[in-house]
Amino acid sequence: MMNVPFYSLDYVNRTLGDALRESFSDVLDSKWFIRGSRCAAFEEAFAAYCGAKVCVGVGNGLDALTLMLRASIQLGRLQQGDEVIVPANTFVATVLAVRAAGLVPVLVEPNRDTCVLDTSRLAEACSDKTRAILVVHLYGRLADMSAICEFAKAHGLLVFEDAAQAHGARLDQPKLSSNAAAYSFYPTKNLGAMGDGGAVVTDDLELAQVVKSLGNYGSVEKYVNKYVGVNSRLDEVQAAILLAKLPHLDSWNALRQEIAARYCAKIKNPLVRVTPVPANPKSHVWHVFPVFCERRDELQKFLKDRGVETLIHYPIPPHLQEAFDGALSRGELRYGPLPIAEELARTELSIPMGPAMTDEQVTYVIESINAFA
Ligand SMILES: *Cc1c(COP(=O)(O)O)cnc(C)c1O
Repeated sequence: MMNVPFYSLDYVNRTLGDALRESFSDVLDSKWFIRGSRCAAFEEAFAAYCGAKVCVGVGNGLDALTLMLRASIQLGRLQQGDEVIVPANTFVATVLAVRAAGLVPVLVEPNRDTCVLDTSRLAEACSDKTRAILVVHLYGRLADMSAICEFAKAHGLLVFEDAAQAHGARLDQPKLSSNAAAYSFYPTKNLGAMGDGGAVVTDDLELAQVVKSLGNYGSVEKYVNKYVGVNSRLDEVQAAILLAKLPHLDSWNALRQEIAARYCAKIKNPLVRVTPVPANPKSHVWHVFPVFCERRDELQKFLKDRGVETLIHYPIPPHLQEAFDGALSRGELRYGPLPIAEELARTELSIPMGPAMTDEQVTYVIESINAFA
């Protein structure tokens, strides 16, 4: 029997360990731990990597989402109580951020095959209060940004991206701008720090300024507070680690894309459904490789008994979480029936994925899944 962990940081630690230790000890020697040169250097490097004008480092992905929305309110582009369309099958943080900004999430069904927002449902989801779409590039797959941006333009909506699972996913069109994108650098994301971290990436310099200020107590100048802010900053240790890792991100994503292509071609079991490789393979960075099975829990146990570790993303969709009990009737959330989001939550299983996987491990996972009956 082979042991296949769900995700392993061994590979990164083995190949980059010395560089990471050096980054850490540089910060230690600099004796400057918050808002220093490394954060500024990472912000510049990550903006360039994303092809955007500016990046603002913040404390984590949830704060990146919340502050990007709060900054839009501060600038008068959104108002508290406005509705924001969000896919129903996202990680709970997306919905929490919309609520934290005083906005109302409108949950919309995903496409069953791609698991990202079903753009054919946008029109029916809109009301006269809808002002924005918060797209989630779930599992690392870019949602259909051209359809979404076109719809938004036609209906006067803002577009925001939850890119916490999609660092480095590329569009084939030259450039389609959303208003801003939020990233998380949680350690197991495709680009992960050594603790919490996040960023807002945008071409809108004014929005970036407000995000930065909101994350620093709302001050524009020390001890002068323009906004009711919070403390949410990317510290120097995290920035230094991220700076050392960023040049390798594309090669790690390419390894994920190769593994995903093998999984998609070789997983052949009538009980197990996979999501297709997109027409442009670079538009999916496979943060997670999901499979879908009506007997999901049995499949998970079967794989566990064979040494294959799996996780579920996510077992309970946001609208069924206890945290949102009564939210629908209080008008704090809006949604209709969500059978697809609920089916995905009931049947999804995430199988091992990441640059650390060996060819033998990938083969073993494929053979194990194909042996499930
Ligand atoms: C990880 C994640 C977040 C939250 O990021 P944190 O850094 O953990 O706060 C938000 N949205 C999605 C889709 C995520 O995967």
